[in-house]
Amino acid sequence: MSRHRNVRGYNYDEDFDDDDVYGQSVDDDYCISPATANQFIYSRQERQAPREQPLEEEAYEDDVPMSPTVSLNLDPLDQAKLFSCLDHMRTVLGDAVQDSVLTQAAISCGFDPQKALDAVLSEDAKTAPVTKSTNEETASAAIASQEKAPLPQRIKKEAVAEKAKSRDVSHNKLDSEVVPKVARMTVSGKKQTMGFDVPSVNGVVGTPERPTAASASEATPKRPETPSKGSNGDEPSTVPTPGRSGKARQTINIKEELEKRQGGKPLLNLVVIGHVDAGKSTLMGHLLYLLGNVNKRTMHKYEQESKKAGKASFAYAWVLDETGEERDRGVTMDVGMTKFETDSKVVTLMDAPGHKDFIPNMITGAAQADVAVLVVDASRGEFEAGFEAGGQTREHALLVRSLGVTQLAVAVNKMDQVNWQQQRFQDITSKLGHFLKQAGFKDSDVYYIPSSGLSGENLTTRSSVSELTSWYSGPSLMEQIDAFKAPQRSLEKPFRLCVSDVFKDQGSGFCVSGKIEAGYIQTGERILAMPPNETCTVKGITLHDEPLDWAAAGDHVSLTVTGMDIIKINVGYVFCDPKEPVRVCTRFRARILLFNIEVPITQGFPVLLHYQTVSEPATIRKLISVLHKSSGDVIKKKPKCLSKGMNAIVEIQTQRPVALELYKDYKELGRFMLRYVGSTIAAGVVTEIKE
Ligand code: GDP
Repeated sequence: MSRHRNVRGYNYDEDFDDDDVYGQSVDDDYCISPATANQFIYSRQERQAPREQPLEEEAYEDDVPMSPTVSLNLDPLDQAKLFSCLDHMRTVLGDAVQDSVLTQAAISCGFDPQKALDAVLSEDAKTAPVTKSTNEETASAAIASQEKAPLPQRIKKEAVAEKAKSRDVSHNKLDSEVVPKVARMTVSGKKQTMGFDVPSVNGVVGTPERPTAASASEATPKRPETPSKGSNGDEPSTVPTPGRSGKARQTINIKEELEKRQGGKPLLNLVVIGHVDAGKSTLMGHLLYLLGNVNKRTMHKYEQESKKAGKASFAYAWVLDETGEERDRGVTMDVGMTKFETDSKVVTLMDAPGHKDFIPNMITGAAQADVAVLVVDASRGEFEAGFEAGGQTREHALLVRSLGVTQLAVAVNKMDQVNWQQQRFQDITSKLGHFLKQAGFKDSDVYYIPSSGLSGENLTTRSSVSELTSWYSGPSLMEQIDAFKAPQRSLEKPFRLCVSDVFKDQGSGFCVSGKIEAGYIQTGERILAMPPNETCTVKGITLHDEPLDWAAAGDHVSLTVTGMDIIKINVGYVFCDPKEPVRVCTRFRARILLFNIEVPITQGFPVLLHYQTVSEPATIRKLISVLHKSSGDVIKKKPKCLSKGMNAIVEIQTQRPVALELYKDYKELGRFMLRYVGSTIAAGVVTEIKE
């Protein structure tokens, strides 16, 4: 696990190797001349001042054989069908046939992969003998036939031009490559951050106002990389002195400052959950694209690369699935973290892995979330597979609820696969509704939105597909996210931050990142790391890569700290206020709710304790009592075993010390999950800390 990873020896340069060579791999392999390649690079000048002749559409057409997806501008539903059909065809044909030929066949056969394959193969059979005899003739015939072929955008030029305009979401920033910054929050131990800077959407995001009181301070370093004088790890760092602060804390009215920041928009931490392949990454990748956080050029690059890898339909998912392994396997492994803005909120988006092997990573994401989007696949058989025992739909929903998420948007995704049938939507929502109620969600806090991540329907704007609008007039996914209530943060409590990553930055000291669970922090302050019981000084704070002088509960920040050896800090440790430190123990009592477990729990039962970013081996040391589910009264003392569905008080012993809080004091640090051989067996809250 990442607790043990070697952050010092890690070569971060490797992370960027792939991304820095835009155009190279793709263009080389496809043998495009630089002149042609230029056509893919959007120029604002060209857009603003169209050439005299109506060449814009011609230039657009040149893209077609290379990029059926970006430049065909099919209607979104057809584009989705085209993706699926092309994927299917490529699994049979590989790269043997040109993309333009496949695309044309797919379109002319109404996106039926079987018919399209037949068409391509029979065409090949016809042309084969000719090719042998007169190569030149064939080549010119092929060119002629391509020219004659009724390319879809030639048929409906007008419509395409109109659509291109309406779909073109990022008019203002198409010049440069724009991709969302995707931070890797956890846990696979090989990545900390990747992606590129996100230019702020409208000048407000990412340029939070500095608090006046804090910025008045001269001693306050503005950037995290600011070298600190004499802090080469030799500052006294062994025994913390409670009450000792590196610098007197400036009095700032944190509530007021928070309101001023981000243009007054509150912050919302949102996790996307659901069964593997439900379409989570595609949905959110497409949403970011439609919001303008990914520009056309970058999207084009992803499409080319994903197509080359035989996974064209994953292009949008690649916006968030950044690592090579994730792309190869087509599954999300780490929690990808990025941000976007709605009308009234700044949203930190966490894309959690759906595969059951990566549930611990998912727990880490969910533990830091305020609200969740549950993505379910509406296709026949697929919803059922995700919902059955063993599917992740149920487990994820239970986990997020147990970790404190109360508001949930359910994206009933891939509705294009079922022709936007109302009946299918209703079947799914009634099954899910029943289950979610049992899991503890209030009906009034769960919202269902029919969507298609691939075609982009109902993501940022309400859909115009008539099959859908005939029965659905509710909000789009984005409207729903905007309507979520931002939670109350524990601003008044002592500072707590649970470490989700540790890494070396330029300059002295090192960086830790994580979500501030309570209180607030200013640069120059001393903070205490627990369990190691070591203090250090905060030299810099960054939020979404913006240097700040302070940050508060709810913020996912990186702190540059000095006066401590990096080796002493691990993922899962808690930084806190030295005057009111977090409790550390190896033994605590908790109230647990057992899930659908097969093996009854007895004394000495081994478990993995998960909370926040912590994952620690532990045992159930004592079974104290069984409780009544609703009243909480003791039904039985010292039970011999615990079985599924029971509520109980138990004593848990961890192998190593962990930093915990009572649930009544800090909900975020007093709530945990227990797992056993790959499945989550219980959720719990800390009621008593022993030692
Ligand atoms: P994740 O594992 O939940 O993140 O799923 P992905 O986003 O990786 O998507 C899995 C597959 O489903 C990919 O091939 C996507 O192209 C496909 N997919 C995602 N959303 C849709 C959709 O709305 N319609 C259709 N037809 N396919 C989709």
